[in-house]
Amino acid sequence: MQDENALREVAKDCVHCGFCLPACPTYQLWAEEMDSPRGRIYLVNQILDGAELTAAAAEHFDRCLGCMACMTACPSGVQYDQLIEAARVWTEEARSEASPQERGESEGGSGFRPPRGSSARDRIARAAIFSLFPYPRRLRAMTAPLRLAQRTGLDRRLARSDLPARVSPVLGAALRLAPPGVSAAEARPLPSRVPALGTRRAVVGMLTGCVQSVFFPRVNAATARVLAAEGCDVIIPRGQGCCGALSLHSGREAEASAFARRTIAMFEQAGVDAVVVNSAGCGSAMKEYERLLRDADGGWAERAAEMSGRVRDLAEFLAELGPAAPRHPLPVTAAYHDACHLSHAQRITRQPRDLLRAIPGLSLVEVPDAGTCCGSAGVYNLLQPAAASELGARKAESVQSTGAPLLITANPGCSLQIAFALAERGQDIAVAHTAEVLDASIRGRPLSG
Ligand code: SF4
Ligand code: SF4
Repeated sequence: MQDENALREVAKDCVHCGFCLPACPTYQLWAEEMDSPRGRIYLVNQILDGAELTAAAAEHFDRCLGCMACMTACPSGVQYDQLIEAARVWTEEARSEASPQERGESEGGSGFRPPRGSSARDRIARAAIFSLFPYPRRLRAMTAPLRLAQRTGLDRRLARSDLPARVSPVLGAALRLAPPGVSAAEARPLPSRVPALGTRRAVVGMLTGCVQSVFFPRVNAATARVLAAEGCDVIIPRGQGCCGALSLHSGREAEASAFARRTIAMFEQAGVDAVVVNSAGCGSAMKEYERLLRDADGGWAERAAEMSGRVRDLAEFLAELGPAAPRHPLPVTAAYHDACHLSHAQRITRQPRDLLRAIPGLSLVEVPDAGTCCGSAGVYNLLQPAAASELGARKAESVQSTGAPLLITANPGCSLQIAFALAERGQDIAVAHTAEVLDASIRGRPLSG
């Protein structure tokens, strides 16, 4: 986190023009100044000037999706990401430091109280999220009972009832959003090296991710095939853990730093030209390692900067490399959804579109509100299910309006969120990752799954 003087300098760039307000999904939802980027910057300034972090302020910070649409809209170049990152650290620290009384477990107490509705139940849910999602093995173990529930239809019965939401809104949201199972063949781990086909043009590392590797292993398999077909030796280190994205984007700085160091060391050992990432949130976090560890000693600051410089989103990397593998026709009309951590955080919008438009027969159409978050936003759809659900419904309506039978996106969270929202509307629209579409075209096969 930046020190206070640096944060003040960042906040000073805001000229209060309000251009960011229409772009902000939470301002669109509630039309509340304090749920806008400008309002949150005002709150950050107040805290920097010594004001207490109140429950109300913490709630406005918690409601921010971290989608960074405000940064794209801002003509003054305000680095809002640094401000919300600091606000999340303050909020998270206050949460963990608050006494039982201050946490509202009994009357009385003073100082920080967690956001309204925060309770022992929600804190347990938060703890469960952060002790499960960044750990692929634990996440995989959890899928066994989930699959059983899906096979017996128990998941649908539970999701329709309000019982899980009464136990915890997080549990209710998790059951609704749970993806369908993966086959045993799909779940098989990828080899640690996939050799380049034809002339080798690069040696790349590949991040397999937590949610991606457990729920979408076919996306990772497609990514490795595409990279190999384009002439890359693909190194896939075994035993990969979390890159730290969920922790970093939730104010859990120490945890994020530990995940970052482990990931840096792992890919350094792999000796690769670039680290290719197919999940927008993970790629964005890895490009932030430089900032996260800039004050770390023992050489970590330099190593983090070096690693951030090597990280490439899959579409970004393929665009830089240029195509080598021939594309076969894929006659389909597809809409493309910009994941916020790709478009706003990494400013990558042209490359995936160019790659998709280069596929013969594929007709790409735009989603009307392309710059607006779908409500997934890391674990936002678990922690703020009502707001996320409304944003998901709006996004599904926009996707439906394109008339395309296929939606392409590049983030597992967006895929889950939009697929669920489309199914809720009874829409039979397939959702695929950019890698899967490229893979189908290169192999001359129809899109599967
Ligand atoms: S963040 Fe940027 S767009 Fe928003 S009010 Fe401040 S200067 Fe204007
Ligand atoms: S990050 Fe997204 S939700 Fe948060 S203030 Fe900016 S536009 Fe609004």
